[in-house]
Amino acid sequence: MAGRPECVFDAAQIREGVRDLARRIRERWPEGGLTLLCVLKGAALFAADLARELGDGLELTFVQARSYGKSTVSSGEVTLGEFEDEALRGRRVVVADTIVDTGLTLSRVVAEVRERGADAILTCVLVDKPVRRTVDVTPDLVGFTVPDRFLVGYGLDHDGHHRGLPYLGVLGESADE
Ligand code: 5GP
Ligand code: MG
Repeated sequence: MAGRPECVFDAAQIREGVRDLARRIRERWPEGGLTLLCVLKGAALFAADLARELGDGLELTFVQARSYGKSTVSSGEVTLGEFEDEALRGRRVVVADTIVDTGLTLSRVVAEVRERGADAILTCVLVDKPVRRTVDVTPDLVGFTVPDRFLVGYGLDHDGHHRGLPYLGVLGESADE
């Protein structure tokens, strides 16, 4: 395992990015009464911070998504866990994920949320990696855009490690061997 991940976005930059995303959500939907859907596990820290910035008047709900396993490359297949249907039906839903890579996860989650009768959907991601896209999906709100790098920290793991890091970083070479 490579050593300490090299910092790409530090805690202060992340805080500013999250604050700005919350401001843009409130601009779009000033009346409150929204549902924040956190895509687990990676978005646990992001959604918690986003919820705090959004403040009162939101419902928080979760779905688990899997596609990477132990690798740093998407398997191309996304497995989703259960949704809390009552939190989505007739609601304005913000889908929060920390990072979009191929776009498979976000497009699958959005399709399922739509199917469950959401009134409106906003996709909100902290980090976008547009060069890696295999599915035609563009998040509505993006904090940072990065080239093709595998990030860890701030909820993102590599084989179960690094989720608790307070910053987003990159692993050294050969992390996927
Ligand atoms: P996608 O389906 O767009 O390929 O990837 C979305 C999911 O894959 C994210 O929710 C995240 O869990 C994981 N993912 C995508 N890119 C990265 C990355 O650079 N690092 C980590 N640790 N996970 C990633
Ligand atoms: Mg992972």
